This record gives sequence, C-alpha cells and structure tokens, in this order.
Amino acid sequence: MVGSGPAGYTAALYMARAELDPLVIEGFAWGGLLQQTTDVENYPGFPPGIMGPDLMQHFRDQAERFGARLETDDVTALELSPDGSEPHKVWVGNDLHLTRAVVLAMGAQHRKLGVPGEQELSGRGVSYCATCDAAFFKQAPTLIVGGGDSAMEEAMFLAKFASKVAIVNRRDEFRASKIMLERARAIPNIDWVTPYVVEEFHAGENKSLAVARLRNTSDGTEKELEITGAFIAVGHDPQSHLVQGQVETDDGGYVVTQGKSTLTNVPGVFAAGDLVDHTYRQAVTAAGSGCQAALDAEWYLRDTAPFESAARVAAN
Ligand code: NDP
Repeated sequence: MVGSGPAGYTAALYMARAELDPLVIEGFAWGGLLQQTTDVENYPGFPPGIMGPDLMQHFRDQAERFGARLETDDVTALELSPDGSEPHKVWVGNDLHLTRAVVLAMGAQHRKLGVPGEQELSGRGVSYCATCDAAFFKQAPTLIVGGGDSAMEEAMFLAKFASKVAIVNRRDEFRASKIMLERARAIPNIDWVTPYVVEEFHAGENKSLAVARLRNTSDGTEKELEITGAFIAVGHDPQSHLVQGQVETDDGGYVVTQGKSTLTNVPGVFAAGDLVDHTYRQAVTAAGSGCQAALDAEWYLRDTAPFESAARVAAN
C-alpha cells in the first residue's frame, strides 16, 4: 500500500486479514486529508461524530491489529513492471521493496491559490473544506473562491451558518453545472463577485483572517472584502506524480481504473480513494474502494504465479 488515508488503511486491514502480510508506506504525514479536519459527522458508525485525526487513528490501529506493517515514511520512487512479469519496485530512500501487488492510495490535495497570507492563515480563517469548518463561522462574513460544483456545494452549505457568503470567481461564467448554479443563486445570503481573483489575505489584530484583497481580472481594479472565513474550492490535485507515465491517468492526473474494479492498466497495480475519484471524494467511499482494491489484489495474487525469487518483502 502506498498512502494511508481511509483507502490505504482499509486495503491494509483487508489484506492483513487475508494473511497477505501487507506493508503500508504511510507517508511522512500519515492519515491523509482527514488529519486536517475537525469534526467528521458523516462517517457512518459514529453517531455523535468523531474528530478527523481520531478517526484516522482508529483506521490505523485496526489495520495494525491484524498485522499490517506500517512504515511512516514517503515513497521516493515507484518503478512498476509494465506487464507485471517482474516485481514492482517501491523505493523509500535507499530501501527497496519488491512486490507482486501494489495498491496506490496516495489521495489528493486541495489545490492552493498560492497567494500571500493563504498558508499563514490556514486554520485561522482560511480553510479548504466548508463541510468540515462551516460551523465555526456562524453569522460571520465569509467568501468562497472558485466557480465549480465544489464551490457551489460549499457555498450552499456555508450559507446555512454564515451571515454572508461571497463567491469569488475569476470569470463571469461559471464552470459549475447549471443545476448547482441555479440552486446557489436562489440563496439570498450568497453574493456573486466576478470576475475577481484573491490577491492576498490579511490578518486582523487577533491574528486571524480579517480582509481579502481582490483584483478584477478584466479591468485590474482592486477592492477589499472584510471577512473572517475564506474557503478555497478551486479543485483538487491527485497525488499521482509518482506513477505519471507508468499507469494510465486522465487529463486531471487521476489514475484510471477499469470498470467498477480498482485495476489499473498495469497488472498487479491497483488504485483506490481520492487518487482515482474526482466525483465523490468522501472518506466512506475511499474506504470502500480500499476494500475493493484489497480484494482485487488478493484475487490477482491467487490467480497469478508467484515469481521464482518470491521477493515480496523488503530487501532492507
Ligand atoms: P473544477 O475543476 O470543476 O472547478 C474548479 C474551479 O476553480 C473553476 O471555477 C476554476 O476556474 C477555479 N479555479 C481553478 N484554479 C483557480 C485559481 N488558481 N484561482 C481562481 N480560481 C481557480 O473543480 P471542482 O472541485 O469544483 O469539481 C471537481 C469535479 O467534482 C467536477 O467534475 C464536479 O462536477 C464534481 N463535483 C460534483 C458535485 C455534485 O455533483 N454535487 C459536487 C462537487 C464536485 P475556471 O473555470 O476559470 O478554470
């Protein structure tokens, strides 16, 4: 397993229970995007909700309990055997792991704007997940950056809490689907600020977000919005750089899987979670696809002959 969000740990749990002795290269920052969230109220099985990091700790503990080996480090290179006839090579620095089956579960990252103040005020007003953080902005003036379906969805959710939600889009036209746009337009406390980009976020005296400086993309004029919450919804970037050019990916960089399975176009290589999913992107759907990947990998190992060297584990 490469990656340790809900997909990676669920795949590890299933593979461990199938006695396949899985090794999870978790990444240096294990736990995926849920580590950056607070309350998770939509993961089934936790009626009062659960904190994102606690949920990931449960995932991790459960995989470990059944014998998954966890390595908290980053994969530095993957060398996949194009037809699966040789072991796939997984490098962690100088350590080489040889394996017949790899589950790719590197997830996705929220796309950043890259403007001054964004990183510094992240968690102090700047957020990438209204579903996670909207409740902190009750009766507060807020903005959403982006014009896709995610921005509309986030805006509609945020509008239930915030006093105002300004949708800042860089064009007058929106990428969002008509139906989402119409739903958002029907909400009275959503304002439409186009064609503008955010140039900078500023903190107030309390060191939390207070002002966004905006620039009109057609005439260059600038204006400031006083806000205490800013939600960035300008898309996600799948973390597929390690396998680009080795497995099939789509225009957005998402790994392509075959039909309803988790099979990639490379034998013995499976992919799950946000790395393949630009539609649902939920913890529960990622966990489900991690389970599928483990079963697909198990069947692949059952149905294909082992290498003569039987080199499946680390050549430390
Ligand atoms: P999209 O790629 O669809 O939209 C990204 C938006 O961000 C666009 O408006 C884009 O502008 C804007 N943008 C990108 N980079 C910048 C930047 N640097 N500065 C300012 N604006 C920027 O991503 P989404 O996350 O919205 O959606 C991803 C997929 O998920 C889509 O297929 C969508 O339909 C789906 N989805 C479906 C939902 C539903 O059906 N309920 C809910 C959420 C997502 P521009 O248009 O100018 O490029």
